[in-house]
Amino acid sequence: MKAQIVEGWPKENSIRISLSETDASQVNAIRRALISDVPKLAITRVNISQGVVETEGQILESVNVLPDEMLAHRLAMIPVPTYPEEKLDFFETCPVCIDMVEAEKGCPQCQVLYSLNIQGPAPDAEEDHITVYAGDLTTISDPMFDIKEEHRRIPITILSKGQYLELYAFATLGRGASHQKWSPVAGVGFSNRNVAKLNNAKKAETLFALGLKTSDGRDIDAKLFKNKQVDDVNTVMDLERALHQVGPGTGRDADFDGAITLEQVEGEYVLSYETDGSLDPVTVFNLAMDELSNRFAGLNEEIGVALN
Ligand SMILES: [Zn+2]
Repeated sequence: MKAQIVEGWPKENSIRISLSETDASQVNAIRRALISDVPKLAITRVNISQGVVETEGQILESVNVLPDEMLAHRLAMIPVPTYPEEKLDFFETCPVCIDMVEAEKGCPQCQVLYSLNIQGPAPDAEEDHITVYAGDLTTISDPMFDIKEEHRRIPITILSKGQYLELYAFATLGRGASHQKWSPVAGVGFSNRNVAKLNNAKKAETLFALGLKTSDGRDIDAKLFKNKQVDDVNTVMDLERALHQVGPGTGRDADFDGAITLEQVEGEYVLSYETDGSLDPVTVFNLAMDELSNRFAGLNEEIGVALN
């Protein structure tokens, strides 16, 4: 199998990867590895302070509109920056704390610690509530684990006057197979790699006359085609979308009459997905390949043992 990033990608956290010399089952194995096998950090334990405190003559109570378990879930879904090169250990198998009792487990080698301490608006404030954001989490571990700028505006809950929220949150490595919060990707899909063929330039005008554009702003017209064919992955995908405007049910399909058709390229696929931002899409792909090769290496060993 050969993998190549499609020209112009990744864009922010999204990517398209062209895979050749392969088949659908192999590409699907990569898809599944991306979703459920690539490890990333996510908040998995939260200690929320309970009680009533008095500060500067104001009585504050540890309540807010959301139940604790929902808060914990919202915290879990915040993308926590993950650095594979840091080689953190999994919480369950961390060599430092494997022999500790459950309550004492957790060390800098296997978890990242955050704290949050926010109070509702002051009694004389104009606003009656404030919003608590992901960006309000402070890293107690290394500042490299600070919630990224792009995720700081994720709302967690709101606090009214006389309310406060104080908590410690622990992020550990995990895999999407155990919980969605540990899945680094979203919208993972793949399709056959196609080329577009111009069969009838005159009838294709039905589409060209609609004034549609490609995603990079070029007109969808005859100029896209060289020798009556488009090879470029991005352009073909734009054409694929545009063809829906002249397909069945549009009232234009009779005039268009298959003037442009898509043809599959044997053994080639386009894989596309987006990460939640905890890891960049290229790293996630490489990690998925590592996971797959480790698993198959392990399988080979086991088969070897079984046969002997
Ligand atoms: Zn540990």
